[in-house]
Amino acid sequence: MKRVIQIIKPESVVEGAGVRLNRSIGGRALDYLDPFLLLDHFDSKDARDYQAGFPLHPHRGIETVTYLLSGAVKHKDSLGNAGTIGAGDVQWMTAGRGILHEEMPQVRPEGIAGFQLWVNLAAKEKMTAPRYQDISANEIPEILRADGTRIRVITGTLDGVSGPVSGISVAPTYLDVSIPVGVTFAHPVEHGHSAFTYVFDGAVNVTVAKNDADMLVRSPTLLVWGEGDDIHIAASDSPARVLLVSGAPLKEPIARYGPFVMNTRAEIEATVRELQAGTFPPTS
Ligand code: FE
Repeated sequence: MKRVIQIIKPESVVEGAGVRLNRSIGGRALDYLDPFLLLDHFDSKDARDYQAGFPLHPHRGIETVTYLLSGAVKHKDSLGNAGTIGAGDVQWMTAGRGILHEEMPQVRPEGIAGFQLWVNLAAKEKMTAPRYQDISANEIPEILRADGTRIRVITGTLDGVSGPVSGISVAPTYLDVSIPVGVTFAHPVEHGHSAFTYVFDGAVNVTVAKNDADMLVRSPTLLVWGEGDDIHIAASDSPARVLLVSGAPLKEPIARYGPFVMNTRAEIEATVRELQAGTFPPTS
């Protein structure tokens, strides 16, 4: 059984043109959890927290995964793609050698809620052609177990059901799990993979490695799992909703500068020069 080795309270940050976010990976407490570079949680009904959005900006060397719980985000990019991500939808964007895009939350009565996860690309894939997997809510299978647990499978396999996102080399699992009160959710994680749970609704009981004791964790909190076969998350006192994410670590050097994540400083400097020269993103 896996135990929790790190407990992180998200920090409030302002990104883009003025979007208030809760950051739990890529912040002061946890720089990265190989292969995951960033996890932002946005959740607000106040338009001032999100309407400024993320105007045109570049990415290189990573994948950005946007999962919306409510509201809508309009996007368009240098490849000519444009569209709207709505509640329950996922956009798995492989930036590869480069894109310029904008991501603009729409002002709606329900506000905006969701997540953006950054997944690193292996050195040999950093300059790959950019790619989008736009997955609408109805394409994401939802498992309803006899104990009342509901699991949306974005990627990975559970109870014989596989998620729609494919062809990602770190072999990620990305689950949205709603656990009823009194139920324990258990899930195996592939040996050697990094794994985290982000508790965003309710509270859970987990076993903490430090003293091998049970601990109540209230949302919002990020839990990093240590070695072992499987994860156990108990909704002992209240129902809970969590993201469960895992993937194979790349174990490569990380050179990071804002929206660019490469392996060396020289690659970052070359990227900044391309941007300044107006030759970013390269067309081939
Ligand atoms: Fe972006």
